[in-house]
Amino acid sequence: MKTAKEYIDSLRELNTRVYMFGEKIDNWVDHPMIRPSINCVAMTYALAQMPEYEDLMTATSNLTGHKINRFAHLHQSPEDLVKKVKMQRLLGQVTASCFQRCVGMDAFNAVFSTTYEIDEKYGTDYHERFRKFLIYVQDEDLTVDGAMTDPKGDRSKAPHDQADPDMFVHVVERREDGIVVCGAKCHQTGSINSHWHIFMPTIAMGEADKDWAVSFACPSDTDGLYMIYGRQSCDTRKLEDGKIDVGNAKFGGQEALVVLDHVFIPNEYIFLNGEYEFAGMMVERFAGYHRQSYGGCKVGVGDVLIGAAALAAEYNGVEKASAVKDKLIEMTHLNETLYSCGIACSCEGCPTKAGNYQIDLLLANVCKQNVTRFPYEIVRLAEDIAGGLMVTMPSEKDFSSNTVVGKNGETIGDVCNKFFAAKEGVSTEDRQRIMRFLENMCLGAAAVGYRTESLHGAGSPQAQRIMIARQGNIAAKKELAKRIAGITED
Ligand code: SF4
Ligand code: FE
Repeated sequence: MKTAKEYIDSLRELNTRVYMFGEKIDNWVDHPMIRPSINCVAMTYALAQMPEYEDLMTATSNLTGHKINRFAHLHQSPEDLVKKVKMQRLLGQVTASCFQRCVGMDAFNAVFSTTYEIDEKYGTDYHERFRKFLIYVQDEDLTVDGAMTDPKGDRSKAPHDQADPDMFVHVVERREDGIVVCGAKCHQTGSINSHWHIFMPTIAMGEADKDWAVSFACPSDTDGLYMIYGRQSCDTRKLEDGKIDVGNAKFGGQEALVVLDHVFIPNEYIFLNGEYEFAGMMVERFAGYHRQSYGGCKVGVGDVLIGAAALAAEYNGVEKASAVKDKLIEMTHLNETLYSCGIACSCEGCPTKAGNYQIDLLLANVCKQNVTRFPYEIVRLAEDIAGGLMVTMPSEKDFSSNTVVGKNGETIGDVCNKFFAAKEGVSTEDRQRIMRFLENMCLGAAAVGYRTESLHGAGSPQAQRIMIARQGNIAAKKELAKRIAGITED
């Protein structure tokens, strides 16, 4: 397995094309707006090297028997699924951010089982190709991005009906040795800092969409692939000198528009090519795994947010107030409810035909549906406890400024430190730090991962409601009611 340093060094060897603010970024590994997201993924490598986390962070590959990073593992049991969620909670606690590597893990498990079933029906060899690819990924300990969300254009139209066919990734040329693809994936998590990408369709498809029913892997720096970096709220604070106003100086998430401009994919990396009726299966499985994931990662980030709110209350001298205690209880209750959903859908997991384990789809969708709501309430309570200072405080440069403003020679720094002093024994700087950290998590750069991503990541709320409707089995529930009510007719 790679160390964190080896992972970061390996990124330097890639020629990934990255654009930001209208320009090409050559040294994207050290770019202050990108590096925090690389640090996050690096933690998935660092923790795997630590004996205390070995059980959570590593697994034994069912393909090779080698010890591998759990992020490259095919889940072999409900216990593996539970460990996945616990690993994600741990990483959320350590980074207070989206650590990005899960999309690849969820893609591995979805593509592994789906390719098995395609081969079963058509006699294709997608599954064997995928196994070979995954063994390479596991042995090299690579980070692979799982890319699903197409731009989609006019939402009322199927892929083949779009005015611009590139609104969904599609095959533009079929050759003896492979295919050429065009299109893009939007708000793609963790694309720049991944070694490879796996592309999957984003919706169920019909026969006319054959050319859009495509899944494949390619290196992130392959010819024709490039990325345009996504903005985050307050992102340019990362370009400032200080380390306080940024809120979380070390870690952050990352999203980008990933463009495929006539990219050639050799046959050995194609996992779906025209078998349109399996597009829906791949989407459903990937989404199910990623909806389970949110019962881990968002809970870990929630742990840090609850801790930050409790610290803010303590610094203000109100930690003993019953109203504050009650808010912290409510935040904990909501956060642990999300965790319960993540654990439940894992415990109820079952084997796929290919042998790896899948979560209970109904419970995974219930998990994510709750994630579309509870973090918003947790954030509201955190802001309630923190008070308005988290959005009105002067900059850290003011706190250290020597510019004289007072009649007795007081500097701007003196004035800020005087009026923003908290309870005795707490430094103004610590108060500043916790307020800025709360701002970062509730409505700054990290809010991308904690708030809006909670709503739209792994599918927007309506996508889960469709799945809940499909999996909820109302007919069986009606039978239960009929039996007890003594209704015998059909
Ligand atoms: Fe992982 Fe959560 Fe980020 Fe998805 S949103 S990649 S599950 S940390
Ligand atoms: Fe996500």
